[in-house]
Amino acid sequence: MSDCLFCKIIAGEIPSKKVYEDDYVYAFDDIDPKAPTHVLIVPKKHIRGVKEATEQDAEIIGRCHVAAARIARERNIENGYRTVSNVGPGAGQSVFHLHVHLLGGRPLNWPPG
Ligand code: 5GP
Ligand code: ZN
Repeated sequence: MSDCLFCKIIAGEIPSKKVYEDDYVYAFDDIDPKAPTHVLIVPKKHIRGVKEATEQDAEIIGRCHVAAARIARERNIENGYRTVSNVGPGAGQSVFHLHVHLLGGRPLNWPPG
């Protein structure tokens, strides 16, 4: 999608600090980290958000979480990390290209705010 920030990041039109990439997903450091590890994992396919996803998108959403687990393992934060998607503006979604936040490296409270 031409006017989507994360599509531009995936295409390399906007620079990012790449953490992981495969044929389906791209992962990069969040520009405004909320934890020592704060990585965004995005499908290369443009999907507006979790609530707009279709059955056909199920596998790629799963791949985002598997990529997050791999990054957590590499970062040695497997004792406790969080994968979260903000769904809709009321939950804080500000970029409308589906993404999974990977947060870790510090104690994480429950429930989140
Ligand atoms: P949301 O608020 O939609 O759940 O998450 C969007 C995330 O994208 C935010 O955590 C924000 O800091 C991050 N972000 C926004 N613009 C950029 C950017 O240009 N580069 C990177 N690396 N992260 C960004
Ligand atoms: Zn996009």
